[in-house]
Amino acid sequence: MNQIIIHVDMDAFYASIEIRDHPELKGLPLIIGSLPSERGVVATCSYEARKFGVHSAMNIKEAYRLCPSGIYRRPNMEKYRAISSQIREIWKSYTPLVETVAFDEAYLDVTDQVNNFEDARKIGLEIKEKIKQKTGLSCSVGIAYCKTAAKTASEEDKPNGFFEIPTPKDFIDLIIDRDVRVLHTVGQATAKKLYSYGIKTVRDVRENSETVINLFGKQGQLIVNFAFGIDERKVIPYRPEDAKSISREVTFQQDVTNYDLLKDILVLLSLCVEKRAKQHGLSGNGITLKITYADMKGITRSKRIFASNSAALIWKEAVKLLDKVDKRPVRLIGVGIHDLSIDENRQVSVADILSNDTENRDKEISHLLMKLENRYGLNFTENLEKIYKADTLHKTVEYMRKHF
Ligand SMILES: [Mg+2]
Repeated sequence: MNQIIIHVDMDAFYASIEIRDHPELKGLPLIIGSLPSERGVVATCSYEARKFGVHSAMNIKEAYRLCPSGIYRRPNMEKYRAISSQIREIWKSYTPLVETVAFDEAYLDVTDQVNNFEDARKIGLEIKEKIKQKTGLSCSVGIAYCKTAAKTASEEDKPNGFFEIPTPKDFIDLIIDRDVRVLHTVGQATAKKLYSYGIKTVRDVRENSETVINLFGKQGQLIVNFAFGIDERKVIPYRPEDAKSISREVTFQQDVTNYDLLKDILVLLSLCVEKRAKQHGLSGNGITLKITYADMKGITRSKRIFASNSAALIWKEAVKLLDKVDKRPVRLIGVGIHDLSIDENRQVSVADILSNDTENRDKEISHLLMKLENRYGLNFTENLEKIYKADTLHKTVEYMRKHF
């Protein structure tokens, strides 16, 4: 497969916007996120703040410990969103195949627009120039033969970078002796596990590919492929009409009259919704509870939420809605999020930044799952991946219904 992919990533996006609009902040360690007095995380920080070890998704208290002299500002999402759509217009003027992975980051497949790498280089440079002209902001551009190499390329020369990786050989030469974390999909936890097997560099991955696949299955195969410079993933354009809402529902074999059981089942449904939303990098601005009663009469109840895809939050709001409905026998229950927007940052949602503590919410979900485990004697935590599948979800729900 011959592809030419451009990866564009804005440099310290939120922080750069604030510096553009408040030039007095230039050269200072600027941290955008929650305030140190609140609970929350860093969304973005300036390069000066990075020198202190601050990075995005870091707990704000930790950031403050590292950089007490920093300037802490809350994000102005409305403003960033408007600039993000200006940038997206520029991307889309070059190719319809734009996959937005975050507010400030996208893959562009320009294979059909160019005859050779030279043409792609022109487009890459032009995009940098146009973004600068239109927004006053800098970005980093990577051009390569596949997605993962394009992303590596854009990181290579940051900020205001421009880097090319034309062939798999170029990619491998560049990364072979680097730490495994250079391979995308290798996060902290995966890296730790690899290290414990003595697999520290990309070369080690190549030489121990079987071990890596045995350890991580599907993800392991992806890691090994990347280590050999293979990445056949396509650029998939995000079209809002493809995903107006994300929801999950179950129909019971026998009508359910116990509403506490319904609340337990909503935990699983909320997790399914969270999983899918996160896969697509989407957040909902509203949640919906759907019920069909035994007499086939259906109702839906909705509520606005603040851009979130957290299972804990979805569950909590769904339960509030459930508390208010008529308590008649239920044949079907579902929960979903709608009015979707692209997650500003796949790791950090607006809700995270604005003082709802991610860690806390993860704890809430594990706590809920533990309660379910005790009640039904099933190991939900370890079998979560399976429960996301429709047939296992149905079987599990039926088991819960019978054993409540
Ligand atoms: Mg960025």
